[in-house]
Amino acid sequence: MFGVWAPGEEVAKLTYFGLFALQHRGQEAAGIAVSDGRQVVVFKDLGLVSQVFDEQTLSSLRGHLAVGHTRYSTTGSTTWENAQPTFRTTATGSGLALGHNGNLVNTAELRDEVNALVGRGGHGAVTATTDSDLITELLAATSADVGLEEAAVRLLPRVRGAFSLAFSDEQTLYAARDPHGVRPLVLGRLERGWVVASETAALDIVGASFVREVEPGELLAIDGNGLRSSRFAAPEPKGCVFEYVYLARPDTTIAGRSVNAARVSIGRRLAAEYPAEADLVIPVPESGTPAAIGFAQGSGIPYGQGLVKNAYVGRTFIQPSQTIRQLGIRLKLNPLREVIRGKRLVVVDDSIVRGNTQRALVRMLREAGALEVHVRIASPPVRWPCFYGIDFASRAELVAGDLDLDGVRRSIGADSLGYVSIDGLVQATEQPASRLCAACFDGNYPIPLPEDAQLGKHLLEEIISDEGALAAGYGAAGAMHQP
Ligand code: SF4
Repeated sequence: MFGVWAPGEEVAKLTYFGLFALQHRGQEAAGIAVSDGRQVVVFKDLGLVSQVFDEQTLSSLRGHLAVGHTRYSTTGSTTWENAQPTFRTTATGSGLALGHNGNLVNTAELRDEVNALVGRGGHGAVTATTDSDLITELLAATSADVGLEEAAVRLLPRVRGAFSLAFSDEQTLYAARDPHGVRPLVLGRLERGWVVASETAALDIVGASFVREVEPGELLAIDGNGLRSSRFAAPEPKGCVFEYVYLARPDTTIAGRSVNAARVSIGRRLAAEYPAEADLVIPVPESGTPAAIGFAQGSGIPYGQGLVKNAYVGRTFIQPSQTIRQLGIRLKLNPLREVIRGKRLVVVDDSIVRGNTQRALVRMLREAGALEVHVRIASPPVRWPCFYGIDFASRAELVAGDLDLDGVRRSIGADSLGYVSIDGLVQATEQPASRLCAACFDGNYPIPLPEDAQLGKHLLEEIISDEGALAAGYGAAGAMHQP
């Protein structure tokens, strides 16, 4: 998500480059809404930023403020309608464009609110198909009476889950972050304007200086009257720890901590927790690279490049079908045979979700002549679904959902396997554990889940206790596989 308020600047082009810097956060669809003070115009389509926009389109999007978005779906299908920014016209004829990063947990309640509005006859037919669209619909309905800023102050306390928002009408750019600050959102300064973005790396690309994070529970409004800040809820920070592992760019800073430095530190901790006797440490590029550097530093084993990334093909666990995912590794990575041949390798990756990537990778490295393949993972086992904006798949699809450490090792065909501990990961972020969400690793969801999800979670807990001490099994099997 990217928003800019900068009269006199080419805001659509700034947003285009901002979205380029944020492409890793979503590759299904891209869109930019621009206002020239009289009307809000949205251009969006399915595809990567570079596929959706060209010079001609960007030149036609003129104005003084813009909101941009790259979509990664967690609710709603991949259709043009679900691309963002979402758009509504209010009863007073004003336009409203909104981009959302995160996932809501009370969409049923919000949908009831929209239905009630329709029932009262004060609103048109319900067209929202995503959680983001529900926010837009409710904001549009309320803003006709009280204006958009007040509508946001009234609505946002009732919206639950993860939401970092950038939205606008004709005059004003708004940014808001849920009280838990699950997803990142930062404020930057241009010489003649302001920028809000999901990551600091998007400020850097447009030459904006970092001002501060948008605080959890804060609403910002930016227009000709300057920058206004208001609180719609008390902050209870629970930042997503997975941002440090995988989601964010390494050149981004979250809560004052460089993501790259956090990843290098994770690698050092991994080397201490799960040492290996090996000749070479190689990363799975690119998100495994900083942790592999850290592992090499911590272990004293030389670091090298053993895998070359093919062209940019997206992130494998985002792709929709199992078949495409299995093809994914071949499309994505190619081994450097002369580096790998005859070596005992430590291969460092950011995470294991379904295990397909690592299975194919280990096979590929052995075929390329590796003597041993020791897999080290810069996050704990992903054992629980995320309800706050990452589609990890259901527990049945998570390789660590049902298997203990040795089961996962055998499943991927590695000589040994080690995951960094939750404590090691949290320490590497330099955040107190109390300010982080780590639910996909430990099952402790900081934001109450909707009833159906809660039911599902209880069922999972029962399955886990029936299966015996799975969690304990990780420690034991881990120790067994330490060389
Ligand atoms: S469950 Fe995991 S991925 Fe989801 S917000 Fe929490 S830490 Fe992040």
